[in-house]
Amino acid sequence: MSDQTNPFLIVQGQLHRAVQNLGLSEDVYELFKEPMRISRVAVPVRMDDGRVQTFLGYRAQHTDVTGPTKGGIRFHPDVNEDEVKGLSMWMTFKTAVMGLPYGGAKGGVICDPGQLSERELEELSRGYIRLLSPVMGPEVDIPAPDVNTNPKIMGWMLDEFDRVRGHHSPGFITGKPLVLGGSLGRDAATGRGVLFVVLQAMDRLGIDPKKATAVIQGFGNVGSHTARLLHEAGIKVVAVSDVRGSAYDASGLDVPKLLTYASEHKTTKGFPGSRMISTDELFSLDVDVIVPAALENQIDGERAEQVRARIVAEAANGPTTPEGDELLAERGIFVIPDILCNAGGVTVSYFEWVQNTMGYYWPEQEVNDKLSRMMVDAFSTVYQMQQEHRVTMREAAYLVAVHRVAEAANARGWLRVNFQHEVPGAVLRGPLAD
Ligand code: GLU
Repeated sequence: MSDQTNPFLIVQGQLHRAVQNLGLSEDVYELFKEPMRISRVAVPVRMDDGRVQTFLGYRAQHTDVTGPTKGGIRFHPDVNEDEVKGLSMWMTFKTAVMGLPYGGAKGGVICDPGQLSERELEELSRGYIRLLSPVMGPEVDIPAPDVNTNPKIMGWMLDEFDRVRGHHSPGFITGKPLVLGGSLGRDAATGRGVLFVVLQAMDRLGIDPKKATAVIQGFGNVGSHTARLLHEAGIKVVAVSDVRGSAYDASGLDVPKLLTYASEHKTTKGFPGSRMISTDELFSLDVDVIVPAALENQIDGERAEQVRARIVAEAANGPTTPEGDELLAERGIFVIPDILCNAGGVTVSYFEWVQNTMGYYWPEQEVNDKLSRMMVDAFSTVYQMQQEHRVTMREAAYLVAVHRVAEAANARGWLRVNFQHEVPGAVLRGPLAD
């Protein structure tokens, strides 16, 4: 991994730039440049054929300055320590942009879940939590789904944690099944958040959603819900892709039918009436919005040159390399940065944790309304910052986020910092403050 593709080095650069732009002391960078704790675990699994196989996993907890650490767990062959470290730091800045009372964390297990049986997957999920349970808990570190993990896996993980501790703690994990205390609206929350900020960006840029077109890279939880919700909002989705292939139809895909097709065929490839296109082609289509909803480093310098869309909505974490980012900015493309764009997921995770704490559950409409308000507020704050300081949306999001964590560190006595810039108040007062 180079400086251009290593999430840890990329986020360090983003943090450093924000510290300088805010005129804050280098102490702020020094304090937040590394995760406060990284755990590495080796999880033995008895495979179906009788062999034992050991899987390596990580959990990076970046900072608890604003509350317990929070973030998903991914199962993927490319998981590595620097990726998990970088992703944990992005979670800190994401929760800070939203004003949530959390710091960031991220976990990962090096495995190919497609090659594991359900029993093997369960044993791996339970073993991972058993080994990490000493450093987790509803007031310590709260996991959630990420790439290739889902409510079923969260259910096993919750059960394992409850067994280890000997009592129920539903707030230990979010994104769990409804019957175990999950929140209505959590499954679609990241996609719904993407829709809300895309509509905000369209409004600012004078684009009519009913005449707009979009493409989506990735058709997992985030990509598929985003496709459905954009389609329901009247935006024409012309192409989607997944790990196995893609579906392109210039006249617009029938998204409800595509969702059924993809769940039956485990890919969007071969969807009747569509043709397959390459990832390079997908990023160069003449549409209004591109939604990268897969993995990191998809929009590098070369692809950024080819982008014709007006808006890039980063539903994935870290989909744009630093070089790609600079080129998109130079070319005047409006980027809704990941730490804002995909924050709907962790925001509804926060609602889930709050509901678990209260033992009182909200109707879906209430969840969606609260999410809408928080996404619109956060977008407006970042947009205002971008206009006032003449920076990119990404830089603006970091200004808001880094100011918030620095202020918390100051209040705890970890720093002695002079705040030279006033950041718009709403975000700093916390979620849903009137
Ligand atoms: N994995 C999601 C993210 O990257 C959600 C995290 C959470 O809900 O804690 O934001």
